[in-house]
Amino acid sequence: MFLCLADGNRSEVLRRILEERMPEITFAERESGVDPHAVRFMLTWEQPVHLADLYPNLEVLFCIGAGVDHFAFDSLPSRLRVVRMVEPGLTEQMQHYAVMGVLTLARDLPAYQAQQRECIWRQLPSRTPASLCVSVMGLGHIGRAVLEALRQFGYRLRGWSRTPHVIEGVDCYSGPEELPRFLAETNILICLLPLTDETRGLLSVETLSTLPRGASVINMARGAHLVQEAVVTLLDSNHLDRVILDVTDPEPLPPQNPLWKHERVIITPHIAGNTIMESAAGYIIANLDRYRKGLLLDGEVDRHKGY
Ligand code: NDP
Repeated sequence: MFLCLADGNRSEVLRRILEERMPEITFAERESGVDPHAVRFMLTWEQPVHLADLYPNLEVLFCIGAGVDHFAFDSLPSRLRVVRMVEPGLTEQMQHYAVMGVLTLARDLPAYQAQQRECIWRQLPSRTPASLCVSVMGLGHIGRAVLEALRQFGYRLRGWSRTPHVIEGVDCYSGPEELPRFLAETNILICLLPLTDETRGLLSVETLSTLPRGASVINMARGAHLVQEAVVTLLDSNHLDRVILDVTDPEPLPPQNPLWKHERVIITPHIAGNTIMESAAGYIIANLDRYRKGLLLDGEVDRHKGY
């Protein structure tokens, strides 16, 4: 049995596609009325309380999102396979958001909006794409796709990851020892790291101060990557120019948080990428098939690494 704990609309789409392509799998949309012993596969965002005790025969836990930092891995049996979402619909939205953010910053849109509010018609000095270095932290599925989408604009591109990568047209750096060099010439920094013990709070005063004066930051990964007080301090000292946040910690920020009203901060409510069930269903079905054949699963979380 496949238990789907997604919202009604997504469940409906997955039910339709699963029934068509894998009719042998029984599908359930809510926990009530289900024999918990029959549940072998589950799709969820929130990890149900007492999951391991309630569903002793669960074999694969699919997460609706690409990040699994909210799962309590210590409470999950070690034999349970955990799979995060790697689907083209979500990836495409992340590419669009990153491009939107980079172009907004590179073409000074917020400054022109501010001028418009004062009825000021004034052209600001423009920067050539080749003069701008756009750097992506995290060269995973989404980080690499974002770099691919940015390639067409002619920026100098950099990437940073845990282990070394080689990507054509991208200067790649890895590990903490190469982080300062990666940041040193960065004009626009995009965070696409998973949230782990190693990456929590990584965007601190110390790290962000390594960026050249006037750099901007786009955080579209998790709010806890960024030390929010550091952002306010570095914006107010003009070390940072602008910050775009799709994620915050907590979500939403409390009304009194200074980031809400900071004139050089743009906040969106965690909308950079959403799982599109029409395309996610194909990913889930392909993984169920791989599981049955005893193959490695796509997007399987390595619990030791935490992503
Ligand atoms: P992946 O797991 O595919 O990639 C993670 C990347 O981060 C890898 O390149 C990895 O390095 C690197 N990394 C991990 N730890 C470190 C570290 N300590 N130091 C340096 N690099 C590190 O993730 P995705 O690309 O699929 O997703 C990235 C994140 O985006 C998700 O975890 C999620 O939090 C966020 N997200 C946000 C959304 C939104 O709507 N705002 C929507 C979807 C995702 P290596 O390659 O060496 O292993």
